[in-house]
Amino acid sequence: MEILKTDILIIGSGIAGLSLALKIKDLGEITILTKKRAFETATSLAQGGIACVMGEDDSFDLHIQDTLIAGDGLCKRETVELVVKTASERIRDLINWGVEFDRDPENPNRFHLTLEGGHSRRRILHVGDYTGRVIENTLLKKVLEAENIILLENFFVVRLITENFLKKFPRVIGALALDLIQLKPVIFLTKIIALCTGGAGKVYLYTSNPDTSTGDGIALAYQVGCRIANMEFIQFHPTCLYHPKAKNFLISEALRGEGAILLNAEGKRFMHKYDPQKKELSSRDIVTRAIDMEIKKTGAECVYLDISHLPSDYIKKRFPYIYEICLKYGIDITSQPIPVVPAAHYLCGGIYTNLWGQTDIPNLFAIGECAYTGLHGGNRLASNSLLEALCFSHQASLKIRKIWDTLKDQPFKEPTLKDPPIKEIKEEKVFISHNWDLIRKIMWDFVGIVRSLKMLNFAKKRIEFIRKEIEENWSGIYLDLDTMELKKITIVAELIIRSALQRLESRGAHYLIDFPNKKKEYEKETVIFKNF
Ligand SMILES: Cc1cc2nc3c(=O)[nH]c(=O)nc-3n(C[C@H](O)[C@H](O)[C@H](O)COP(=O)(O)OP(=O)(O)OC[C@H]3O[C@@H](n4cnc5c(N)ncnc54)[C@H](O)[C@@H]3O)c2cc1C
Repeated sequence: MEILKTDILIIGSGIAGLSLALKIKDLGEITILTKKRAFETATSLAQGGIACVMGEDDSFDLHIQDTLIAGDGLCKRETVELVVKTASERIRDLINWGVEFDRDPENPNRFHLTLEGGHSRRRILHVGDYTGRVIENTLLKKVLEAENIILLENFFVVRLITENFLKKFPRVIGALALDLIQLKPVIFLTKIIALCTGGAGKVYLYTSNPDTSTGDGIALAYQVGCRIANMEFIQFHPTCLYHPKAKNFLISEALRGEGAILLNAEGKRFMHKYDPQKKELSSRDIVTRAIDMEIKKTGAECVYLDISHLPSDYIKKRFPYIYEICLKYGIDITSQPIPVVPAAHYLCGGIYTNLWGQTDIPNLFAIGECAYTGLHGGNRLASNSLLEALCFSHQASLKIRKIWDTLKDQPFKEPTLKDPPIKEIKEEKVFISHNWDLIRKIMWDFVGIVRSLKMLNFAKKRIEFIRKEIEENWSGIYLDLDTMELKKITIVAELIIRSALQRLESRGAHYLIDFPNKKKEYEKETVIFKNF
């Protein structure tokens, strides 16, 4: 098997992976592996923007409070303070790399700040309604220009290699990846690994996430013994475009921030019944459950988001991307309400990390959506996630610099484990695609917006059955992305269900009808790890 050596290995080419690479590129040779094309990330799809205290009427305390309220009693205060207080430095990093945020048309010396659900002040910096695409392209350009950074597309990491599998937290010494173009396995030996693999929306039937979001990093870290936390907190975005031909198109929260209202199938506003004060600007979990309830009550397939009362020119200028895409599907948002439904959007939990982005294994880092830092608690405040990824890539860069002094002169460790045979799928691929569909449907129907113990136990049995079937029929490593991703989503689905079954209360994004209220004893994270 081909063996390549690189000083530091980063897995993922979204905001977390790219910004980390740029921060540590002077240390040695950095290799970024990404399983599809580099821009195929959740980062590229981000519309709303990044939260940062900048307005005169705003303060750190207000942003901290808003984050804690959305997190519903589960945020780690020190993480929230760190992220909120260093936000302007991280925005400065982005500006220095070349991101040009929109300016206030009335005062071009200032940035235009928009409002989103759960925020008590205007504090979201943005570039039109395609902020993520601009960030991704800008960082990618910088990475491609950097001499020390090698970016390898279509390399899918299937396994982390540790020095001694029997030790409790063995050091990682490399990763086994599949080169999906040349169809061959490659081992990357390295001294530090950063998992920047994004979220896991694809575990659900309906999601705003890109195809790359299959929770691989979480499965990889779990398999080498790292703690995984708060997996029950899946944030469902309240408003994804409902159209038979639209795949996962999100209608940004910023529309509601700018005054869009929600209407049920009877054309009536309803948010005042669920949150009389904040109405459409309530936090995501409340808006999502309200929509779910209205859809179930009226028997309709969707609700509607209406911004058509605002001037047409303003809508086109402020939301050019959403306007264009909706028009493509025959919906003119300047004159018609937009049909919307909720969809799985963001994973608040993930790989347990400290304030330096370090996992339980000291030379294994996890950054961005795959990590659990304690920032989001039970529910993420809108536009805090790009910021979290930036903040923790910076934190990780500081720690990596520190440990690099002791690691840089050490030789690469050769893997002691025998290489597993690489197999090829022999039977019809329908077995794989069927299990994919089944898992995503089970998760949507039984581990979704509103859950019950009966539903969770039902889902647990079914997913366990699928896992066993996969182990019996497709154990080992296959040169096939769908098969290997299927194994990852099965692990992640099980982790979500096991976490949900541990939290016998309703809090944040986890709503359990058997226990509709919060309970004091659950004011802590749900932690799962693999017992070897
Ligand atoms: C539609 C949408 C809109 C959003 N809007 C906002 C917003 O306005 N503001 C905000 O703050 N947040 C927003 N978010 C959330 C935010 O975009 C994500 O949380 C963030 O971009 C995650 O960045 P990341 O670098 O962690 O992961 P990603 O950007 O998803 O990158 C993950 C990378 O890992 C790679 N990868 C995964 N597994 C493997 C593997 N096994 N081997 C090799 N490579 C692998 C992928 O190919 C990809 O390159 C939005 C998300 C979506 C989906």
